[in-house]
Amino acid sequence: MTQKMNIHNPQHRELMIEQILKGHMVALPTETVYGLAVRADDDQAVMNLFKKKGRPSFNPLIVHYASWEDVAATFAMNSCEENLARHFWPGPLTLVLDRPPDLYIASCVSANLPTLAVRVPDHDFTRSLIRDIGCPLAMPSANRSGRLSPTSPEHVLADFPHDGTILIADGGACTLGLESTVVDARNPQQISLLRPGIITKEDLKPWGNISSSSDLKNNKSSSHLAKTPSSPSSPGCLTSHYAPSRPLRMNVTTPLTHEAFLGFSGSPLATRDLSPQGCLREASKNLYHDLHLLDREPFTSIAVAPIPNQGLGITINDRLARAASSHPTNQNLSS
Ligand code: AMP
Ligand code: MG
Repeated sequence: MTQKMNIHNPQHRELMIEQILKGHMVALPTETVYGLAVRADDDQAVMNLFKKKGRPSFNPLIVHYASWEDVAATFAMNSCEENLARHFWPGPLTLVLDRPPDLYIASCVSANLPTLAVRVPDHDFTRSLIRDIGCPLAMPSANRSGRLSPTSPEHVLADFPHDGTILIADGGACTLGLESTVVDARNPQQISLLRPGIITKEDLKPWGNISSSSDLKNNKSSSHLAKTPSSPSSPGCLTSHYAPSRPLRMNVTTPLTHEAFLGFSGSPLATRDLSPQGCLREASKNLYHDLHLLDREPFTSIAVAPIPNQGLGITINDRLARAASSHPTNQNLSS
């Protein structure tokens, strides 16, 4: 069985370190979502991770470091990348950096791309574990590929219930609850926002011109999510993703019978409300938590109220659009 580990128990901590050093997987808490971690320098361990998640090998992983200093010692960063890292790390920003020659990270981590996505998570336990392991960790979200991201140990357990090889470090609920913002600042004149996250386009503006796929879109379709002419592609953004097992439709004001209704800002018919006060920060934190709760009987599908498409609302709508596009039957239902 998959097992929960107490992050305050030194023996559990040792066991998790030992497992990772041997090339096994451990689910770790971060401020964004729970990650499924393996050492990033071990080809076999990384390939096992892709297989366990059912993740396509073209979708590269984010490598997690213990500190900004460790990243700076490994990668040649331009001043824009350095400023972003100093400001936002530890935190929910992922930087796509040039991969130095002879880097010890397994090439399948980055799907053989010439770049590597890196981040320093804002979670003391996980950073201290990485430090003690002495090797950065490849760590995608701890869910089966395409499914809802986990924001609690229970979500990880639900996705890998009978797996004898996964230990889960129980860090409680994630404080932010949505995946990191992925940015490519290799060209400081044009910073590319590859995946919206908790850090918004507005938050990034002080560091330069930002281009993003949202510049070209409205929030009802996900076909635009792949790439823009001015931005390099982020292979993971090509796929539908982040989906509950039930069909989901967006921008609904009147739900159907047997449909769970995820409201926002005090929707009168809501089964649950992402934020009764209309706070996008609160809604981001609750999004996966609430979708996990509604993705069960007696509901047959999930309808979501309109979310304002600004600031963090752009990130929420990005995740909802991907979830909606995972169910072709939804196209008829969409309103
Ligand atoms: P996940 O592990 O599900 O949080 O997804 C990681 C995200 O980072 C995906 O959208 C990937 O496409 C993106 N990513 C990872 N490595 C790279 C890279 N080298 N270049 C561009 N995007 C990347
Ligand atoms: Mg994921």
